[in-house]
Amino acid sequence: MHCPFCRHADSRVVDSRTSDDGASIRRRRQCPECNRRFTTIETASLSVVKRSGVTEPFSREKIVNGVRKACQGRPVNEDDLAVLAQRVEETIRASGSAELDAYEIGLAILGPLRELDEVAYLRFASVYQAFDSLEDFESAITSLRVEREERESAARAEGPDGAAPAEDVREEPAPHA
Ligand SMILES: [Zn+2]
Repeated sequence: MHCPFCRHADSRVVDSRTSDDGASIRRRRQCPECNRRFTTIETASLSVVKRSGVTEPFSREKIVNGVRKACQGRPVNEDDLAVLAQRVEETIRASGSAELDAYEIGLAILGPLRELDEVAYLRFASVYQAFDSLEDFESAITSLRVEREERESAARAEGPDGAAPAEDVREEPAPHA
């Protein structure tokens, strides 16, 4: 790493620490020539190939901005969006591929968004999957319904009378009138 002050060709690492989320490492470096110190930040590169063919670094902020529009007027806050973007990044990193196209990013968004808010999911999916008819919406809604019914019947099967071990469920105390 060249010294940014005197362009000396070498530098010495004097300290390095990993960021809280483990996604980057900051290193303090010192130039042996002019003795000035500077910081470098190291992250594993994860890039997105846009539809135009341009490659840009993956950014959680871009995910949040892309999803925020679909969440307008829905009970979704900034923390929910931050968690969603983190899940998307984890999914992408777990795929083991360092370069993804916009379609794969969209695919990684759909799952967590569906869990977050079904209406926002439908809005996002309609743009991303280019719904162009009522039938497209109908089939997306049908599959949401089927999944919801499956979840609910699974929850019933795991209820106190079911075969699965019952969890320690306590009744909520009635609110004071
Ligand atoms: Zn220097």
